[in-house]
Amino acid sequence: MQQKEMIYPIMVHTSSSLRTVNFYLIETGHSLILVDAGWNNDDSKRALQQTLEENDFSLSDLTDIVLTHNHPDHIGLVNQITDKHPIPVFAHKDAIPRMKREREFLEMRLEFFKKLYEEMGCGEAGEKQVRYLRDAIEKNSGQSIQAEITPIGNTHRNFQVIEVPGHAPDQIALWSEKRRELLSGDLLIDHISSNALVEPDYNGERLPTLLQHKHSLEKVLNLSVDRVFSGHGMVIENPTTLIKKRIVGMERKAQKFKNLMKEEGLTTASDIAKVYYKKSYFTQFSLVMSEVIGHLDYMERNEQITKEKKHAVWHYSIA
Ligand SMILES: [Zn+2]
Repeated sequence: MQQKEMIYPIMVHTSSSLRTVNFYLIETGHSLILVDAGWNNDDSKRALQQTLEENDFSLSDLTDIVLTHNHPDHIGLVNQITDKHPIPVFAHKDAIPRMKREREFLEMRLEFFKKLYEEMGCGEAGEKQVRYLRDAIEKNSGQSIQAEITPIGNTHRNFQVIEVPGHAPDQIALWSEKRRELLSGDLLIDHISSNALVEPDYNGERLPTLLQHKHSLEKVLNLSVDRVFSGHGMVIENPTTLIKKRIVGMERKAQKFKNLMKEEGLTTASDIAKVYYKKSYFTQFSLVMSEVIGHLDYMERNEQITKEKKHAVWHYSIA
């Protein structure tokens, strides 16, 4: 007998450039999996409720939750759901200290960013971000996932679990080979390029996030995928062209930063970020620093640039 398998997208509109925050119900055999869980807000809750009702389900029909990565717009409703209806929660093993908001890990992460922003020459803007991160440890302590998180295996139900780090170190995608469909988390977004956010690993070392992001995109190019269910924006049909465009875009941006170094004589990550991103350097500091540091790391690995420490700040030059 043919087993029914259906993906029901839940798309919550947002005023940000992400356009929508998406999460998904997957009906497969006797399971009803929730993939991601939106923001912890009423809009997400209503959208989940509505999609359940429209398809003759209720919250108690959910059998398990799979989280694609640790970001708050993907895990928001988990506590509310598992409070009422305790079901297993699965995620990448590296997601656990982040989703559990383990104090020791968050303090290590804080130190990592403090040192990073100092070494990148960020000055007061960096110190401000570190203060914000320090306050967030207290402020967001109630947001930690209460349920036990089980490290996800190589497969989950009818899906293969694909590690796709870069945007987040713990990001996974679910691939149905048979249906040629991928639930991608934020690896690929239709209308904007996904950011590879700088993060430390468990030992406090900086992950090569942009390189990881590129490898993750290349990994998906090698899978048979006709349709991508993204964490934000529209469903993506035939993603090959878009993935290639994103990879080219990465190289192009690296060249732009390199040109700035050459033409303006810029040597530090913070100066490149200030000149390239202007006001956004102050309004979206962590995001733009991730972009610049990610691309500098990437060029350094490709031996296009080198760096040298002067007065405790890294200065980059073209190799
Ligand atoms: Zn994300």
